[in-house]
Amino acid sequence: MLKVNNLSFNYNKSPILKALSFNVKPGEYLAIIGESGSGKSTLLKVLRGEYDLNNGTVFWKKEQILGPKHNLVIGYDFMKYVAQEFELEPFISVAENIGQHLSNFYKEEKKERIAELLQVVELTAVATTKVKLLSGGQKQRVALARALAKAPEILLLDEPFSHIDNFKKQSLRRSIFKYLKDKNITCIVATHDKEDVLGFADNMLVLNNNKIEAYNTPKQLYKDPKTALVASFFGEFNIINNDIFYAHQLKIVDSSNLKAIVKNNYFKGHYYLIEANLNGENVFLKNSKNLEKGAIIYLQKIKKPH
Ligand code: ADP
Ligand code: MG
Repeated sequence: MLKVNNLSFNYNKSPILKALSFNVKPGEYLAIIGESGSGKSTLLKVLRGEYDLNNGTVFWKKEQILGPKHNLVIGYDFMKYVAQEFELEPFISVAENIGQHLSNFYKEEKKERIAELLQVVELTAVATTKVKLLSGGQKQRVALARALAKAPEILLLDEPFSHIDNFKKQSLRRSIFKYLKDKNITCIVATHDKEDVLGFADNMLVLNNNKIEAYNTPKQLYKDPKTALVASFFGEFNIINNDIFYAHQLKIVDSSNLKAIVKNNYFKGHYYLIEANLNGENVFLKNSKNLEKGAIIYLQKIKKPH
């Protein structure tokens, strides 16, 4: 178990992370979410021992994670970290990059391991290509495979799919998260993309104002977002009479006491997102058809109690 207890950290004077406590079980995937600048990357770096804490402790099983004041070499063998701006060896091949830290003593095993990882990140076709010739997204996948090469117990990933195009992203996410579950690798991912979380993460930690604003399963936070920040992670939402509603939880009815005027339509594929004005406030709802600007509509909240 990763045990984070009362962790506080600041780079200079102003606090970045204040008194965070949480646990991550072996094999669990915890997603760290929050707005840009909320401290997601900092938290990952602190968890791997890149900085000394101002207060608190981090333990993996019996071992305390310590910073540079206590360790000559930053990081621990049981933990791998892929930074937002990852580094690779540009002048050697994809396969060589992935296998760089694997022993040459077990040649056959090394070859098999590299082949397996190439498959996980869907890069078999470019195995012998020099890394400098790859796209940003391909490089990101090499970095992921490289982190997995020595089978870490914990993997810390900072926005791991940010450079990967949408065609590849979905299948790659499925492949990586399945691999991590199959191998029981604990995984902590910093992201602002809900697609990295929904359907994959066991728990979600929301960082805001230096603190944990919410911590729960994605399902629970989706069903009952207690704050606008949490709701905004999942999609367009409205606050009506202090209650949070997603766009799909507002429907148009023949009459109601929520009278709104259509301001705009956005084509979203299988639906239109309608922006309307309700008592001077902008509201968003989903509708199968687009609506004329200026049209009067009546809305009903269709949120189910939970
Ligand atoms: P996120 O990953 O959520 O976007 P970061 O952890 O990168 O957030 O940054 C959190 C805050 O810490 C920001 O205000 C950022 O400017 C600051 N910060 C990040 N790295 C450093 C650093 N090396 N020195 C000083 N301040 C930093
Ligand atoms: Mg970051």
